[in-house]
Amino acid sequence: MVKETRLYDILGVKVDATDAEIKKSYRLGALKYHPDKNPSEEAAEKFKEISASYEILSDSEKRSIYDQFGEEGLQGNGGPGGFGGFGAEDLFSQFFGGGSARSRGPPRGKDIVHEISVTLEDLYKGKTSKLALNKKVLCKGCDGRGGKADAVKKCTSCNGQGVKFVTRQMGPMIQRFQTECDVCHGEGDIIDPKGLCKECNGKKVANVRKILEVKIEPGMKDGSKIVFKGEADQAPGIIPGDVVFVVSEKPHNLFKRQQENLIYNAKVDLLTALAGGDFSVKHVSGEYLKITIIPGEIISPGMVKVIEGKGMPIPKYGGYGNLIIKFEIEFPPNNFTSEENLKKLESILPPRKTVEIPASAKVDECTLQDYNPSKHSSNPRGGQSYDSDEEDGQHGAEGVQCASQ
Ligand SMILES: [Zn+2]
Ligand SMILES: [Zn+2]
Repeated sequence: MVKETRLYDILGVKVDATDAEIKKSYRLGALKYHPDKNPSEEAAEKFKEISASYEILSDSEKRSIYDQFGEEGLQGNGGPGGFGGFGAEDLFSQFFGGGSARSRGPPRGKDIVHEISVTLEDLYKGKTSKLALNKKVLCKGCDGRGGKADAVKKCTSCNGQGVKFVTRQMGPMIQRFQTECDVCHGEGDIIDPKGLCKECNGKKVANVRKILEVKIEPGMKDGSKIVFKGEADQAPGIIPGDVVFVVSEKPHNLFKRQQENLIYNAKVDLLTALAGGDFSVKHVSGEYLKITIIPGEIISPGMVKVIEGKGMPIPKYGGYGNLIIKFEIEFPPNNFTSEENLKKLESILPPRKTVEIPASAKVDECTLQDYNPSKHSSNPRGGQSYDSDEEDGQHGAEGVQCASQ
């Protein structure tokens, strides 16, 4: 079998090039052909080619598959062009900095995500909570090695990977298996029992309890994240993940939040709605707002008013949202006053609307009944009698009974 060399040729290195030589060559080529430096189409093609080649040849496992089986051996295994979901730009930014979500450097540990339930009051004022985190850190006695420096040897069987790849040719198919290394039991190294770390007994990590100060900033929202970079579990050979607190806003019994604004349903009595007066709101800031309806101003049911600047704090930009007040009017109960007093109302309130029925019309005299959902909403078509011609006049409006004269 003639050994393929195309990927080496693309990078301009010899087949027996060292990792450092491959890296250097990729670096030079990537800088020369990167689309930012060289906008031509040829350069873009070349940039892709060298990135793909480097991705294979910088990976000892992929390189050995390529050396043995050529590009065919890498098909479906992140071969050139296929990239295994890895883009040239990802590789470039990983190499030259700029961050890549899928870095091929040391693997990143899992993030620890916690939900933190916060009241609207605390989201208004801000709050610092101290939370205890139980986590794993590298053993201080051995810096996470598990033993004295000279007692820890990289496992030669798996080249320190902890896993072995077995490539087998079955007819035209190349099959690849990954198995835990049986020599080091997945550890990647072997510790001489004489030099075992006494603190961790070779476990490399220790459990600690750490207090984190979680700062809720005024104006934070449901879903806001507070990130402690690299505070998740440590383990040898990984970059620890982050501890992330996600704000969950507790529902409030008086206010609804809409971004920076607060919505409040105010119930005022009929007298205040008609003749003015004060009402109060216990605000999430802890203070009471005294709100005056000036005599002469009429508040009708469902009316919406606003008090500017009494909403939630706006993070970063400063200032506050608005307090939006939706009014509900509490009417007095049946028979709240004498007929005599009701007559007085006639002299005060605007006059009644006159009944407008043409003299020639046929008239049904109707009385209002109390609406009872179980008795009155049994329309099989879901209460659509208003829209249906057939049923017009049979049931009429719900809750109103009519007697033909
Ligand atoms: Zn091993
Ligand atoms: Zn130790």
